[in-house]
Amino acid sequence: MSRKSIILPKGRARARAGSPWIFSNEIRMDEAAKSIAPGAVINVRGEDGRAFGTGYFNPKSLIAIRLWSDDCDVVIDRDFFAVRLKRALALRSAIYDKPFYRLVHAEGDALPGLVIDRFDDTLAVQIGTAGMERQTETLLQALEIVVKPKTVILRNDAPSRALEGLDSHVKTVKGEGRRIAVEENGARYFADLAEGQKTGWYYDQRDNRAFIAGLAKGKTVLDAYSYTGGFGILAAKAGAKEVVCLDSSAPALAIAEESARANSVTIKAVKADVFEELERLKAAGERFDIVLTDPPPFVKSKKDLEPGAKAYRKLARLAADVTAPGGVMMTASCSHNIPPERFAQECAQGLLRAGRAAAMIRQSGAGPDHPVHPLLPESAYLKAIAYVLD
Ligand code: SAH
Repeated sequence: MSRKSIILPKGRARARAGSPWIFSNEIRMDEAAKSIAPGAVINVRGEDGRAFGTGYFNPKSLIAIRLWSDDCDVVIDRDFFAVRLKRALALRSAIYDKPFYRLVHAEGDALPGLVIDRFDDTLAVQIGTAGMERQTETLLQALEIVVKPKTVILRNDAPSRALEGLDSHVKTVKGEGRRIAVEENGARYFADLAEGQKTGWYYDQRDNRAFIAGLAKGKTVLDAYSYTGGFGILAAKAGAKEVVCLDSSAPALAIAEESARANSVTIKAVKADVFEELERLKAAGERFDIVLTDPPPFVKSKKDLEPGAKAYRKLARLAADVTAPGGVMMTASCSHNIPPERFAQECAQGLLRAGRAAAMIRQSGAGPDHPVHPLLPESAYLKAIAYVLD
């Protein structure tokens, strides 16, 4: 096979210990390597010829290589994708009784650079890297074999694509219809797969929504950063006395209200900035039995760690201020750039500053349709902590 090889010199590259990522400063970036087209499939070998695997290469990216396999010369074709997709599908089919889940979670499903959310016969596909982008046609063919979707929407508009030199676009490549229904935890929601955030729906919070709903009967609930009402509507369905969904996005709140009607429940949708609204609620003396905050990532890159950490602390303080005595507060972070311990520490500081004694009752992350490669712990981006307050 005439496939090019990239040399992994001796050293401390994480790939030597099984990581599927190789950084640009870990390889020999000679002229030959630089001339390889972004996204090309390559072999990785040690200086002694040791095989490290088949991967794809992007000379422009900090993560220069993502490995498909730890064997060299693996053929990346439709059948290769079909095998991995079938494995991903088998896991979800074993866990969920309805076809609504994250079907592919990148490295966790040995498909680096690829995320697919499934909404019955509609797929929202997110391609994040040049290496996966080059395989788009092959992937779509494999999806035809394994899933046979009616509709496929490419949500190739994640800002991180710029790091790979990729453009931003959203395209329906099969079928039609971007407004779909989501069934989750026995509730029915709506999502807009073309305009909505990320793929249009956040499956990662499924189990956390069920946890909150389990506590909600007869309670007042503040769902801050509610998006389309994933938490709030389930809580209302579980018998909450009052649910406020708070978000800055009018289109997201409009969908939340529509979803509430579909479940024959009522929510109060409030369009406001969460920090400002929490201050206002505090000043007005309003308190809720359950307060949850699920903000957008405050730590978008490593350099944002300190200001981001401070924002999590402040948010925890404000959330605690509006949590009723004996109430439950749940904080979440979807920033993979803040480690779980640091996030927990900031929340603890926020509680302290609010003057509230608290006990942690649950620490969790995303559900099992978001598998994590054991040597890429940072890809377990979602952290959620629930506390009971004095
Ligand atoms: N909890 C949601 C997901 C939240 S995503 C769910 O279960 O599906 C983050 C949300 O925060 C988005 O809907 C976005 O519109 C909203 N948002 C971002 N900045 C905000 C701000 N300053 N005030 C209020 N909402 C904000």
